[in-house]
Amino acid sequence: MHIRRALYNLNRNPAALCFNRNLCYYIFNIACDRQASPSHPAEPRSRGVDGLELMNYVVFDLEWNQCPYGKARENRKIPFEIIEIGAVMLDQDRNCVETFHRVIRPKVYRQLHYRTKEIVNLTMEDLRKGMPFPLAVRDFLEWAGRNSIFCTWGCVDLNELQRNMNYYGQLRLLPGPFHYYDVQKLFSIAFEDGRTCRALNYAADLLRLDEEEEFHSAMADAKYAAEVFRRIPKELLPENDSLNVYQNPKSKTEEIHTVYNQYSLYISREFATKEEAMRDPEVRSVYCSKCGKKARRKIQWFAAGSQKYVCLALCPVHGLLQGVIRMRKSESGAVYVKKIVAPCTEAQAELIRRRRDALREKRRRRRRQNEEKLSAMS
Ligand SMILES: [Zn+2]
Repeated sequence: MHIRRALYNLNRNPAALCFNRNLCYYIFNIACDRQASPSHPAEPRSRGVDGLELMNYVVFDLEWNQCPYGKARENRKIPFEIIEIGAVMLDQDRNCVETFHRVIRPKVYRQLHYRTKEIVNLTMEDLRKGMPFPLAVRDFLEWAGRNSIFCTWGCVDLNELQRNMNYYGQLRLLPGPFHYYDVQKLFSIAFEDGRTCRALNYAADLLRLDEEEEFHSAMADAKYAAEVFRRIPKELLPENDSLNVYQNPKSKTEEIHTVYNQYSLYISREFATKEEAMRDPEVRSVYCSKCGKKARRKIQWFAAGSQKYVCLALCPVHGLLQGVIRMRKSESGAVYVKKIVAPCTEAQAELIRRRRDALREKRRRRRRQNEEKLSAMS
């Protein structure tokens, strides 16, 4: 898998490889017979990237508070203020090694929101005894070490961690984008349909975990998530990691090209508008997710929703490919693109064709109606 992923990237954009975790950077370097150079740094934007070195897994969970006086009075830069961090470190064989726990003294919202009060097992009194966030997060990252990969239930905690760090000007301590394991996603792939998002207590029930501790304390939830993670079959891990792009690429050289088992993923730099993004040749291009060679487009990109574009392409060797672009908003309000290219069947291709035709027909009808309206007015 890693070799294929590395070779794919070799075909595509070697410069982008510095984002890839694990072996592919090494294989890439071996294949190219070269060492990491300043222009292709091995680690600055990834965690646990040291390839052949063994890594730990850090399964963590956060609890947070929000503005007690409602959304209208919240601080936009930090809508959710972290009040607790709990984490479990697992070694490479996923044995529990250590735990980490900090309660955080809030600075932005000094009362608990009623929802937080209901959920979290902490009182304001407990929080006042906590430590300031900047110190707690420093401790946490130091404890986690550079050679570990984060694991969380869902993708929200990692974004909120970075948003809080950004608020305190600490983002350089955790350079992104980086790879991580979404345990919620892995649970669904391993035990359900691979799509449904379940709550942590559902997973704990299904796997018959020992549920002695109450849910919704950071430490307990981190332990439960770690127990779920330990039960994910090992062979599922390499192909099912996730990419956190809270710190999305800002320049062409930072753009991400990577390939998974069934699909290739591209994350673009920022654009002012989605129209500008859709005019960019790299955004519009389609490369085969199996061989990485340029594919011929059979159906041009068309808007299949306000933030979604679809196309159909053909690799002469590997057949039909479906391209899907989703527009994403960065923290600064700019637009960036997440593009996925995956093999598709003739039936799926037919659906794309029909969708395109239906949208065309709709547009034609609307134009005709407008013309009729105009001519009736004149
Ligand atoms: Zn191909």
